[in-house]
Amino acid sequence: MNTGKQTLVEPVLDITEAQSFPMAYSNIEKEENSEKPKEIFVCQNCRFSVPYDYFGRRPPFSKSFVLMEEAFVMKDPFSADGGMITLGSNCSSCGAIVCLSQDCSLFYTKRFCLPCVKRNLRDFPSEIIEEMKRKRKE
Ligand SMILES: [Zn+2]
Ligand SMILES: [Zn+2]
Repeated sequence: MNTGKQTLVEPVLDITEAQSFPMAYSNIEKEENSEKPKEIFVCQNCRFSVPYDYFGRRPPFSKSFVLMEEAFVMKDPFSADGGMITLGSNCSSCGAIVCLSQDCSLFYTKRFCLPCVKRNLRDFPSEIIEEMKRKRKE
């Protein structure tokens, strides 16, 4: 009988690689909450106050808007596409900061606070004078 020797060659799996993958700790930089505390808009007439995002005529977050006047604006928190809320402006006569409420200011070519309108009522057109008279009766 031919008993051929069978040489079993076992594959040598002798690689004991040290599984040493040094964990690459990526430097996860903490995003610092470096947002400046917002400045507060305060109406000098009714004391309405709210933090505002921008003062001027072209809010950077609402590129499609150009305001008629320099104004205090805040981003509209309910708008995803750059909506904004105009809060108030400076009286062009006395410089007081007033909100856009009809009780605090009006816009007639420029922004005026209501005390200034009352003081200079003669300089305003009759429809505004009428408007003021009506308000007084209310
Ligand atoms: Zn006001
Ligand atoms: Zn004024």
